[in-house]
Amino acid sequence: MNLHEYQGKQILSSFGVRIQRGIVASTPAEAVAAAKKLTEDTGTGWHVIKAQIHAGGRGKGGGVKLAKNLGDVERISGEILGMMLITPQTSAEGKLVNQVLIAEDVYYPGDSKPEEFYISVLLNRATGKNMIMYSTEGGMDIETVAEQTPHLIFTEEIDPLLGLMPFQARKVAFNLGLSGNAFKEMTQFVTALYTAYIKSDAAMFEINPVLKTSDDKIMAVDAKVSLDENALYRHKEYEAMRDLREENPIEVEAKAAGLNYVKLDGNVGCMVNGAGLAMGTMDLIKESGGEPANFLDVGGTADAQRVETAFGIILKDPNVKAILVNIFGGIVRCDRVAQGVVDAYKNMGDKITVPIICRLQGTNAKEAKELIDNSGMKIISATEFQEAADKVQEVLSA
Ligand code: GDP
Ligand code: MN
Repeated sequence: MNLHEYQGKQILSSFGVRIQRGIVASTPAEAVAAAKKLTEDTGTGWHVIKAQIHAGGRGKGGGVKLAKNLGDVERISGEILGMMLITPQTSAEGKLVNQVLIAEDVYYPGDSKPEEFYISVLLNRATGKNMIMYSTEGGMDIETVAEQTPHLIFTEEIDPLLGLMPFQARKVAFNLGLSGNAFKEMTQFVTALYTAYIKSDAAMFEINPVLKTSDDKIMAVDAKVSLDENALYRHKEYEAMRDLREENPIEVEAKAAGLNYVKLDGNVGCMVNGAGLAMGTMDLIKESGGEPANFLDVGGTADAQRVETAFGIILKDPNVKAILVNIFGGIVRCDRVAQGVVDAYKNMGDKITVPIICRLQGTNAKEAKELIDNSGMKIISATEFQEAADKVQEVLSA
């Protein structure tokens, strides 16, 4: 689950990570009130207005602007709120901005060259260990840094049994070229950041930039935080941070129906039972020359009701030109699923506008195929996996 910058910063701050302070606002009037409050609390005269959307690169798209007085705050937040913000990480239409973060300006005007770093914490799947990835090249796209100056990216792997060791935090500060108080601040920053990552059951933290202020303080200016959804039951307070407006509406609906659906870019809709078979199905579609439109695991009980709901969700995606149903009857009998598919098809009538290829294998597969072939519906049956994928290609090229 992805969070907004202001929510990510709340979590960081609760674990003692120093952040650029801010207050979220939904209207220009709230923005002005927030700016006044920040001036009282921090003494800042200037503010930064930051669009809150689930995508990075906001600065480049005009979603991060400096306000030098309250008039600026009102005008700029009015411009950013409600805009469709296009960044290198959004689609071409961009994302609607519902909220702005009014933050204290932490780049003091006297600073000729503020020092910006990049620090992220994530799991290295190859080694099964968490790691801190960091670079002196903050404020830039880390992908660009990786391409052009890979030697400026460092990684520090953390032993899961020992946790982050003090020498590792010092190594980070050293490699970032810090000394004196900034060095000490950085070791504290990295230690608190890693604790926050572990304790919040995060999947990823990306802080870009981490700023060294002119008075040698280290703070998070941005925060991209992604939490592990499977651990949310341990953090009710984080669950409330979910912003459904930022998520794909089809995925939100599928989740509410208890279906495991992930939207993809292709044109072959997939309905499969079991996550492993669903992955295999997408692979085979691709190898046979097609592109999957989605991942969908209908679960073990593929009854008529669930199948109908699943068809409805798959068909909400206008790119879908064919649907491949691939069910393995292990616990659930194939003829029951076949009946479910036929019933769902009947109920949906002309709502089904694309060809359906149905492959059922396992217990009572033969009965299932007969049931489909004799149903009088336009459902193409298949027994073998490859045969089903080939039939998908046939209907697509017809
Ligand atoms: P992103 O573009 O979505 O990654 O958003 P960031 O939060 O990283 O902000 C983009 C850029 O805005 C940063 O790299 C900074 O250069 C700039 N910025 C952020 N906060 C301040 C601030 O307090 N003062 C000034 N002058 N610039 C800031
Ligand atoms: Mn950033």
